Amino acid sequence: MTSDAFCLGDRVVAVTEINGCVLEGRTGTVCHMLNNDGNIGVCWDLDEDEVDFALDEGMHTCCDHCEDGYGWYVLPEDIALHNEARDFEDFELSAIDILFA
Ligand SMILES: [Zn+2]
Repeated sequence: MTSDAFCLGDRVVAVTEINGCVLEGRTGTVCHMLNNDGNIGVCWDLDEDEVDFALDEGMHTCCDHCEDGYGWYVLPEDIALHNEARDFEDFELSAIDILFA
């Protein structure tokens, strides 16, 4: 999957451990697209009490695209589109849907 599969505002889910804070299954919202290297800025869904840890991990604002500590750039293969109506267990299905979208 390439970064073309994602748009600003898309809800996404991590499909692997991305950093110490963003583990598999963590959801977030695409907040910044980088054109050249294909990295995607995601504002991750963190609880307030996780933000200090996130900042320690080096998480940031995605160049002022989200609140400090919530942002992290990811590779497109590390995330998938996330439909809130589905459980994470249905992720395989949504990945197939994306292929034929
Ligand atoms: Zn962000």
